[in-house]
Amino acid sequence: MPHRFFALEDDADRLAGVWLSHGHGDHCFGLPLLLLRLGEMGRRRPLAIAGPQGVGPRVKDLLDVAYPGFASRLGFEVAVQEAADGDSFVFAGLPARTAATEHGLANLAVRVSVAGRELFYSGDGRPTRQSLLLADGCDLVVHEAFTVRGGVEGHGAAVPLAQRLASRVGRLALVHVGRGFRAQMNEWLAGMGPKTTITVPEDGLTVAL
Ligand SMILES: [Zn+2]
Ligand SMILES: [Zn+2]
Repeated sequence: MPHRFFALEDDADRLAGVWLSHGHGDHCFGLPLLLLRLGEMGRRRPLAIAGPQGVGPRVKDLLDVAYPGFASRLGFEVAVQEAADGDSFVFAGLPARTAATEHGLANLAVRVSVAGRELFYSGDGRPTRQSLLLADGCDLVVHEAFTVRGGVEGHGAAVPLAQRLASRVGRLALVHVGRGFRAQMNEWLAGMGPKTTITVPEDGLTVAL
């Protein structure tokens, strides 16, 4: 995460917050380097970090393992918030709501309102009734789709997500595609035609809404 992020961003204070959907390594092991680098770049603005119950100790543990003793020397405040399923709260100054998905670790999807736009990020997990309702009507939905048609426990799949959401959201971006499913995913997407609002983003894609 940090290397890609800093390829696009050189302003230490622009990032408002980090949502840690759950504790799996592919979603949070990049955090220590992100914080270290922001400190090196001279960040002064407090950084909001939010996620499910236990996110506070998780952030502390990650920093202690990666850069022992560094947490107190970051040079900026890290404000960690714990959220629960169905919460409505203010995250990094933005109205936010959560919904749990079905995943191996407790995972919260989040919806935030930014300048009149509605954004949804699933984190990991098979969608639930609540998480699909939360995504409904958003301008951009970033959802994990590990497979095309399903069958992997605790993960989303492109076809049911497209059937449920594609016509109800502005854009549906499918991410976290399993290595063994990428060719099949691209083939399926090609079959949706040039006017589809579904994308399977490449690294580094930026989206203007
Ligand atoms: Zn996970
Ligand atoms: Zn993951």
